[in-house]
Amino acid sequence: GRAAAQDYDFFYLVLQWPGSYCDTKQSCCYPKSGKPAADFGIHGLWPNRDDGSYPQNCNPDAAFNPSKVSDLLSSLRAKWPTLACPTNDGLRFWGHEWEKHGTCAADVFDEHGYFQAALRLRDRLGVLAALTSAGVNPDGGYYTLDQIKGAIREGTGFEPYVECNRDEAGNSQLYQLYFCVSAAGDSFVECPVLPRGRPCGSRIEFPAF
Ligand code: 5GP
Ligand code: 5GP
Ligand code: 5GP
Repeated sequence: GRAAAQDYDFFYLVLQWPGSYCDTKQSCCYPKSGKPAADFGIHGLWPNRDDGSYPQNCNPDAAFNPSKVSDLLSSLRAKWPTLACPTNDGLRFWGHEWEKHGTCAADVFDEHGYFQAALRLRDRLGVLAALTSAGVNPDGGYYTLDQIKGAIREGTGFEPYVECNRDEAGNSQLYQLYFCVSAAGDSFVECPVLPRGRPCGSRIEFPAF
């Protein structure tokens, strides 16, 4: 059962492939710290309910305070880079994620704990290594949904939901991965419900970055 103050059942840890954020009609901007590594970055850690709904913007009094995560800033730049335009330092993206999603998990995380948990969860997965060990490489080639999901399941122990977007030519490409995390925020679990989304199709591009 839920603790009294808890208005969600699990989290999505959402990772993004920077090559696919950038490889669209809209394009992208590198952060002030420079081009991020060619690896999956964090989009967010999102409290979610078993019925698919989710709380958001839960505490207007808990505005993002960068000084509370000063020891995490270099890790955030490396592993949670912003690719939105115009070029900025990432504080806007992190602040948006904390205020929209993080403040809804105040029963388990303060601001520092929220960012630290997302960073540690991402590190535990090693998604890119799981893919490349199975021959699924970010080289502009095409793969099936089963190849991608199978490689990640084999290498990490967990099967994500795969979200695709479209490159400039309209090809479906690997954009975001959704992993499910317990309500305590400390372990991966099977997803109680999958995000609603469009099918990726039978050929999925994995663009270089
Ligand atoms: P989009 O419309 O791009 O899919 O989602 C916009 C934003 O809504 C996301 O970045 C995220 O903040 C939020 N969002 C979309 N789907 C979900 C979901 O299934 N769970 C949660 N917690 N937030 C979501
Ligand atoms: P959501 O509400 O969808 O969790 O967060 C997406 C918001 O963060 C949008 O306003 C988007 O412009 C901004 N944003 C900044 N940097 C990034 C990024 O690298 N990836 C994504 N997906 N959104 C970003
Ligand atoms: P099933 O779960 O019955 O195999 O698939 C039902 C539908 O959901 C199929 O169209 C399949 O392609 C789609 N699907 C299954 N897993 C994913 C996923 O991770 N991402 C996306 N976008 N579609 C999926």
